[in-house]
Amino acid sequence: MQLTADLTGRHVLVAGAHDEARRAVRRFAGAGAIVRPVSSPEHFTPELLDGAVLAAVVSADDGGWPALAHACGERGVLLVREVPALPGGCVTLVGGGPGTEDLLTVGALHALREADVVFFDRLAPHADLPRLAPGAELVDVGKQPGHHKVTQRDIERLMIESAKAGNNVVRLKGGDPYVFGRGGEEAAACADAGVPVSVISGVTSAISVPAAAGIPVTHRGISHMFTVVSGHQPLTDAEHEHLAGLGGTVVVLMGVGTLPQLTAGLRRAGMRPDMPVAVVERGFSDSQRTTVSTLTGIVTAAGAARVKSPAILVIGEVVRLADGNEAGQLAGLAESVGA
Ligand code: SAH
Repeated sequence: MQLTADLTGRHVLVAGAHDEARRAVRRFAGAGAIVRPVSSPEHFTPELLDGAVLAAVVSADDGGWPALAHACGERGVLLVREVPALPGGCVTLVGGGPGTEDLLTVGALHALREADVVFFDRLAPHADLPRLAPGAELVDVGKQPGHHKVTQRDIERLMIESAKAGNNVVRLKGGDPYVFGRGGEEAAACADAGVPVSVISGVTSAISVPAAAGIPVTHRGISHMFTVVSGHQPLTDAEHEHLAGLGGTVVVLMGVGTLPQLTAGLRRAGMRPDMPVAVVERGFSDSQRTTVSTLTGIVTAAGAARVKSPAILVIGEVVRLADGNEAGQLAGLAESVGA
């Protein structure tokens, strides 16, 4: 059973060893309660319950703190029990998926619940963090494109310092931490600093955002491979040739700014001018939008639609399967390529 209570200005007694109770103390304080911590049963006296509406016992042992339980019974103070916080001093890199809570993994939810501190990015799903990580301090280290709020070095230093201070640190990233997420660098920095680090994979936008637009990255008889590319920098001509030569689906992240170079490069490398291309913006948000055209038409179409980052580009025959193919923009496209 889960209850919601307004604890603003209410006295709450939190019983438990300092380290084990730290998350509960932060959570109740965060909810506006006036927290009275008691670190061991020897320090408990019934007067400590004066004015309290709630007592929380943080103990691995169900029967712990019998004097407190007894006093709560006598005074009619609600008693709740919770398991101790996990030992701190480590970093968990958590993939937050493409922006909807539905695509957070069970592992991610668990790590957030256990976190003392969460460092999150702009594209990580952060709207509901106060609820998902109720015992954690939430630190926004998001970077607007071209606008480095906190540098990568600083993020690594902050994470390491926090873990060394005994915190259970979660580094929450959009999508998967190891897909263009600099997760590898952060894991290496932790390891170099002697801080234990682990990774919880996330659902990458490279696959899920096309899916949200009705585009499967592979499809029997249409495409049996997909390549995920960063468009952060323009590709080389050799890379354009390899991509065009592969023949499968090409998925590009961070590719809005370099779309003209990419389409021109793929044309030079011999890709068909009528190859379908989709740009899917803001996947899983209320304003998700798909713009579809051909390799030669997409720059104009994207310009006319004022396409903006974050967006995923999909290049390949699978784009014909996009939602709305029969009805709108793709019907004409299908005719134009004789499909
Ligand atoms: N690690 C992330 C990718 C980080 S790079 C992952 O696995 O998804 C950031 C790029 O991801 C953005 O520029 C955009 O191309 C893409 N992206 C992430 N979330 C997105 C979303 N909800 N909609 C569209 N593109 C998204």
